[in-house]
Amino acid sequence: MKSSSNAKSFLLIFLLFWLLFVSLFLILYPLLLNYLPNEDENIDYPVFERRKDRKHDRILDDSHCLCVIVPYRDRWDQLTVFVPYMNEFLREQGIRSYIYMVNQMDRYRFNRGALLNTGFLYSHPSCDYMALHDIDLLPNRVNLRYKYPPEAGPVHVTAPKYHPFYDFPDYFGGIVLIRREHFQKVNGFSNKFWGWGLEDDEFRMRIVDGGLNITVPSFPESHKMNSFVHISPEGAAKSIRDSKDWMNDMRRKRDRVGGYRSLKFKSLPRVHKLTVDSYPFVQLDVQFQCNVTLTPWCMSEAYL
Ligand code: UDP
Ligand code: MN
Repeated sequence: MKSSSNAKSFLLIFLLFWLLFVSLFLILYPLLLNYLPNEDENIDYPVFERRKDRKHDRILDDSHCLCVIVPYRDRWDQLTVFVPYMNEFLREQGIRSYIYMVNQMDRYRFNRGALLNTGFLYSHPSCDYMALHDIDLLPNRVNLRYKYPPEAGPVHVTAPKYHPFYDFPDYFGGIVLIRREHFQKVNGFSNKFWGWGLEDDEFRMRIVDGGLNITVPSFPESHKMNSFVHISPEGAAKSIRDSKDWMNDMRRKRDRVGGYRSLKFKSLPRVHKLTVDSYPFVQLDVQFQCNVTLTPWCMSEAYL
């Protein structure tokens, strides 16, 4: 008799504790969510500040239109910084512009050249010039103007004198402004540079062989330390770089045949009009084809 009443009171106490626990959880959990650091506290990336005195968005030069073409795969955290930042930056300069994320969806190694070719093929034809633009380089100053490039040829915005860490004189990656007709003239990039690097060196040779000149802009008071913010943490970026030099000799060869005209897709790119915090961008989802006899180094580890 005694033991059964003991058992009952134990059960009661257990139930009471359980109820207390559940109700505390229900009350505290939403409170706890509110205490998570909010967006402002969380951001350690730069944000391009909208000028307080800017009343409207003015297009200062209506005769040109810029398409910003970003080669992209799996860098969502950088995309959510890049899109708002570049929208504000280009609005501030009064440049009519569209941003394109060209997203490589297949399982081959990353192909920056082929992605930029895709951007050229599928971006809005009213753009008469493009910014071939890494996602992790943010122009840090309003006076870094993304102007329509000269007749002579493309403009290397992230030339070694401005790039935060690349010093070699022939570096031609990062950010390049180029007229559509100049990109067309050199047949864009080679499509055979699967894996990190080298495609920009080959592109530079195409530009030079095509009789074009590369201009390095003169940005007042700009230098390596203050012009761009590279938002990939150096160490982390290095460790995820797919720079395996397997068959590098073959990769290094100059490509006089391929270009945007010979780019092959597995299926046609899909176009999505998206926004980040109501700042617009276009995402092109692409799947490339790779001729594994000609360029076996396109295979990622997943296939080997
Ligand atoms: N990129 C990407 N996903 C990758 C590798 C590269 O989106 O897995 C794009 C991205 O736009 C990046 C650019 O390719 O900025 C160049 O790569 P990365 O920045 O790693 O090279 P870096 O020039 O800094 O050595
Ligand atoms: Mn980078």
